[in-house]
Amino acid sequence: MSAQTKFMLDESRMPTHWYNIAADLPVAPPPVLHPATMKPVGPDDLAPLFPIELILQEVSTEREVPIPEPVREVFRLWRPSPLVRAHRLEKALGTPARIYYKYEGVSPAGSHKPNTAVPQAWYNAQAGIRKLATETGAGQWGSALAFGGALFGIEVTVFQVRVSYDQKPYRRALMETYGARCIASPSNETNSGRAVLAKDPRHPGSLGIAISEAVEVAATHDDTKYSLGSVLNHVLLHQTIVGQEAMLQLEMAGDDPDVIVGCTGGGSNFAGMSFPFIGQQLRGGRKRRIVAIEPAACPSLTRGKYAYDFGDTAHLTPLAKMHTLGSTFTPPGFHAGGLRYHGMAPMVSHLSELGLIEARAYQQTQCFEAGVLFARNEGIVPAPEANHAVKGAIDEALRCKREGRSEVILFNLCGHGHFDMSAYTNYMAGNLSDQSYDEEELAMALAGLPSVPA
Ligand SMILES: *Cc1c(COP(=O)(O)O)cnc(C)c1O
Repeated sequence: MSAQTKFMLDESRMPTHWYNIAADLPVAPPPVLHPATMKPVGPDDLAPLFPIELILQEVSTEREVPIPEPVREVFRLWRPSPLVRAHRLEKALGTPARIYYKYEGVSPAGSHKPNTAVPQAWYNAQAGIRKLATETGAGQWGSALAFGGALFGIEVTVFQVRVSYDQKPYRRALMETYGARCIASPSNETNSGRAVLAKDPRHPGSLGIAISEAVEVAATHDDTKYSLGSVLNHVLLHQTIVGQEAMLQLEMAGDDPDVIVGCTGGGSNFAGMSFPFIGQQLRGGRKRRIVAIEPAACPSLTRGKYAYDFGDTAHLTPLAKMHTLGSTFTPPGFHAGGLRYHGMAPMVSHLSELGLIEARAYQQTQCFEAGVLFARNEGIVPAPEANHAVKGAIDEALRCKREGRSEVILFNLCGHGHFDMSAYTNYMAGNLSDQSYDEEELAMALAGLPSVPA
């Protein structure tokens, strides 16, 4: 057993390509459909929203996609990120398992999101785009894209879900520091926003509504494109730098993971860590357990339906087949704002259907309990979203203890919680409760799924 704690990869070994799992799938995922024609969408349908290079990545089946050198140059500000052996957490748990975490909180915005924000801003700048519109829930994605935009001279407009706009002023301050304009959603700037406000002037907003507003701005302005921080194939692709680095670092540690754990909102940090390992398996390598952890209050993988659905509330997006709670579903209030999306990435959903990944759902208080134990042993205060992965890894380590197995557990510590300390304050004051979603609302949202001919 190595006593070493931190495994740093030399800059010269930072991956030069992203890994595209589409190249290794035994069955291709179902096509994305145009809601008017129910025919597969083509590049022309997506051209108003994304630059062509990103559209090509979205549908690419090439195994390796080169990372542009100017993007790698920016990545060197914080990449390769560290892989850490959690010796103290192992000891606190009394587990024979070896626990490793890949720490993505070292990025300027404090999470994995800049891994895709920087290339997305770069590809847009290369295509001559000067403005990007996007949405943000917890503020992580908005600050990552604001950072990317600042580097490549792109004006970024962020529709921030109203509750988080009011409750997380420091995330907004960070976005504005990077030069972005931040608008509380629903807003009066779009038809989608005005329609929601007409029904309820005090609507707290949702990710689905904010996406509608940003998509509408991009679709109706020639000089503006849209950017999404999760769910889409090209976003998951950009995150695979995480898993590829982890693979090299685990080699340095002389270990090989038996279980890989990640939290899932839209699925991008989970995919980024796990897809390179799943790819090895699909090419004849060893089988590992891959575990997705989602919030019990917004459980798309464990309770959603695998069906075609819209990505947004106003139904401006194409239809994608995914595990979904229904595009009108609004989860109850809980603190992991980044995990409140109604759907799961189509590619992650597809892998789940193929039996290549497992999923579990946890309540928020048990996740905060895990996060506090982690902080007290490893020092890092995880983001509330990341606490789900911490809890998943701890449960696997405790299973190893019960079964007397010295398995190797790897998880993605996808961000720090420094902007989420009010959630920790609430937890420590005993003011956090476990929220269940409304079964009736879920049934209604699922009943409203679009009907798609087989
Ligand atoms: C956005 C975010 C998530 C959820 O998004 P995924 O696409 O599922 O990764 C999870 N953790 C953090 C820290 C985030 O910022």
